[in-house]
Amino acid sequence: MTTKKITNLNDKSRRPHFLSVDVEDYFMVEAFSAVVDRRDWDNWESRVVSNTQTTLDLLDRYHATATFFFVGWVAKKFPRLVREVQTRGHELACHSYWHRTVYSLSPDEFRADTREAVGAIEDAGGVKVRGYRAPSWSITKNCLWALDVLAEEGFAYDSSIYPIRHDLYGLPNAKRFPYEHMCRNGRLLDEIPPASINILGQTLPGAGGGYLRIFPLSYTRWVFKIFEEDYEESVVVYFHPWELDPNQPRIRGALKSRLRHYTNLGRMSSRLECLLADYSFRPLGAAFPPKETDCQRRVDYKEGNKQ
Ligand SMILES: [Zn+2]
Repeated sequence: MTTKKITNLNDKSRRPHFLSVDVEDYFMVEAFSAVVDRRDWDNWESRVVSNTQTTLDLLDRYHATATFFFVGWVAKKFPRLVREVQTRGHELACHSYWHRTVYSLSPDEFRADTREAVGAIEDAGGVKVRGYRAPSWSITKNCLWALDVLAEEGFAYDSSIYPIRHDLYGLPNAKRFPYEHMCRNGRLLDEIPPASINILGQTLPGAGGGYLRIFPLSYTRWVFKIFEEDYEESVVVYFHPWELDPNQPRIRGALKSRLRHYTNLGRMSSRLECLLADYSFRPLGAAFPPKETDCQRRVDYKEGNKQ
C-alpha cells in the first residue's frame, strides 16, 4: 500500500514558509536607474511609508510575520517607519544603502555602503541587523567576495543569490535551498535563496516580485505544492511595497523595464492575500539562529544540491 501526503489548502498548520519584503521606493529600482539619478531621490514623490504601512496592515490581517530588508536611505529618511515595522513584530534586515548592484562596486565600496545602511537601520530600529539582501539579486559569480565581507561585518545570513539564468542577475549553478557558506575568513554565513523549481533540467523562479505578478496564481500554488510535497522545503517569497501601489507615478524607462515593473500591479494585493490565507509565513531569521564558526562544510558552486 502506498501512502500519499494529504494537502489541505486551508490548513495553515503545515510547514511555515518564509516571507520577505524589500523596502524601497518605486523610483529606486534598477530597472529605472538609467533615468532616475540617485542624487535626485529627494525630489521624487515618496510613497514608501504609505505602501509599507499597507503591507503591514495586510500581514496583520493574516497574522503573518516577515523579514523587511530596508534600503538604508529609506531608514535614514523615515526612521519611524523602521521602528513601526520592528514593533509590529517583524525582522529588520539590510537591502544596501543606495540600492546599487553589488557587481558594480569594489569590495571597499560594498563594505562602506553596507556599514552605512546597517547604521541607519539599527539606529532607527534599536535592534541588531542579521540579514542581508543585495539589490537586484546582484551577488553573482563575479562578486562572491561580497559573502566574505558580509561575514566579516557580522551578518548571520544572506539572501541574495538567485539560482536562475537572467539578463541582470543569477547564479545558475548555485544551490536552490538554504545552505552554509564557509567564508574565506573561516566564518560561516547562511544563504537563503528565493524559491525556484527544477523542471526538465531548467531552473525556474518560484514565488516573488515580478514573477508573482506576471505568472498566474495557479503557477505559484503549484510551486508551493512541489515545495511541500516533493522538496519538503519552505518557499522563500519576496515582494516590494511599491508592488501594492497601482497608482504610483509612471517613469518613462525602457519598454522591458516598464513591462517588468508595471505588469499586474493591480492584482498583487489579491494574490498575496490568497497566499497569506492559505499558508503560514515567518521571517527568514527565525529559522537561522547564530551558530558556531568551526563547521567544515563547504560550498561548491559547480554542483547544485537537490535539483
Ligand atoms: Zn531592491
